[in-house]
Amino acid sequence: MYKSQSVALVLAVILWGGCASERDPEIVQMASEIDLARVTRTVHVLVGFGTRNTLSDTNHPTRGIGAARRWLKSEFDKIAVESAGRLRVELDEFTAEADNRRITRPTQIVNVVATLPGTRAIARDRVYVLSAHYDSMCSDPTDPNCDAPGADDDASGVAVVLELARVMSRYEFDATIVFMAVAGEEQGLVGSRHWAKQAKQRKMDIAGMITNDIVGASVGPTGAGHRHRLRVFSEGVPINETPEQARIRQATGNENESASRNLARYIQETAAEYLPGMNVVHIFRRDRFLRGGDHSAFLEQGYPAVRFTEYEENYDHQHQTPRVEAGREYGDLPKFCDFGYIADVARVNLVALANLARAPAVPRDVRIITARLSHDTTLRWTAGREADMFGYEVVWRETTSPVWQERRFVGNVTEVTLPMSKDNNCFGVCAIDGLAHRSPAASPVPALD
Ligand SMILES: [Zn+2]
Repeated sequence: MYKSQSVALVLAVILWGGCASERDPEIVQMASEIDLARVTRTVHVLVGFGTRNTLSDTNHPTRGIGAARRWLKSEFDKIAVESAGRLRVELDEFTAEADNRRITRPTQIVNVVATLPGTRAIARDRVYVLSAHYDSMCSDPTDPNCDAPGADDDASGVAVVLELARVMSRYEFDATIVFMAVAGEEQGLVGSRHWAKQAKQRKMDIAGMITNDIVGASVGPTGAGHRHRLRVFSEGVPINETPEQARIRQATGNENESASRNLARYIQETAAEYLPGMNVVHIFRRDRFLRGGDHSAFLEQGYPAVRFTEYEENYDHQHQTPRVEAGREYGDLPKFCDFGYIADVARVNLVALANLARAPAVPRDVRIITARLSHDTTLRWTAGREADMFGYEVVWRETTSPVWQERRFVGNVTEVTLPMSKDNNCFGVCAIDGLAHRSPAASPVPALD
C-alpha cells in the first residue's frame, strides 16, 4: 500500500465505480444538437463559390475566395448574435509576399476567427483552437481561375468548425475556445502560421489545437467503407524540442509521450466514452506520409496540436480539376462526401473540445523523483489553481501499449508513490474537477531530488 492513499482509494471506488455514467449530460445534449442539414448546407455553399483558391478573385460577388470569406464572416456574425454577443468574430488579415513557388504575387490572406471566452477566472486564459482551411485548389495550386470545389478538402472541416461554433456558443466553458477558418493552407500553411506566430508573440496559452482537414468521405478508393473510423494524427517527438529536451527524452525513452500524443489519447478516450459508434484511430505520425497541415504551424510554436482526417483518402477526389478521363471521374465534389459522416466527425470534435474546456488544465511541472534506484515510482507536480479542482488521477501503461491501460484517483495531492517500476511502465497525471471532467495526461520528466 502506498502511504496515506487509502482515503483516496475509497474516493476512487466511488468515482470510478461506473465509468459510463460520468458523461456530462450537457455535453451529451450538445452532441445531439449537431445539425446534419446545416453541415450539408455549409459544404454546398462553399463549393458554390466555384473556387476558393487563395490567389483567386477577392472582389467578385459570388465567385472566388473573397466571396467565400465574406459568407463565412456573415455566418459567424449570425452565430455571435445568437450567442448574445459572447462569441467575438474577427478577421486576421495580412499580405503574404510572393515566394516564387505557391504564392505568385503579393496576396491578401484573411483568417476568419471567432472566440468564445471562458467563464472561469483561472481557466479563461487557457485556449483551445478548432481549425479548418476554407481555401481550395484544383490540379494546379497557383491557378486562380480553374474550378476548385474543395468539398472534402476542406469545406468538410469548415462545416465542422462552423457547426461547433453554433452549438457551443450557447453553452459555457471554463476555458476559452477559438473557432477559425484559415486561408493559404494549400499555399504552404500561410494563414495558420501567421496566426500561430502572433499567438506565441502574445504569449497565448494554447493548451490544444485540432485541425479538421479532409473529414468528408467515408468510402476509400477501392470501395471499402470507413463510416465509423476517423484518424487522429499526433507527433511523438516534438518538432520544436530543444537539445536539452531531446537529451532527456533519449535518456528516459519518452519518444511516445509528447503533449500532442497525450491530446490524441484523450480525444480517443473521450470519443469512446461518449460516441461508442465512432472509432478514433491513432496514427502515430505528425501527418500523412511526407504531407502537412495547419496543426504543424502550431506545433512549430510549441503548442500541442493534432489532425483529424477521414480513414482512407481518394486522390481522384482531392487536388484535382473536375473532369472525366477514360470513364474515370476526378474532382473534389459534394457527391463524394458522406454528410452523416461529417456530422459524426463534428460530434467527435465536440465531445473532446467540450471536455477539454470544462476540465482543469493539464497538471504542470510533473516530475518523476529519481533520487534513488527503486522499484517504486514517485510522481510530483504543482497544484492547479482552479476553484473547482477535485483532485488528480495517475494513469499508466506498459511501454509497448499505445494507450493508457489503467487509471487511479489519488486525491487532491501533489505527490504520490506507486509500487510500480518506472522502467517497465509509462506514467501520466491528469487533473479532475468536481463534475469528473478530466484533463489530458501530463507525462513526467525526471527530477533529481
Ligand atoms: Zn486540406
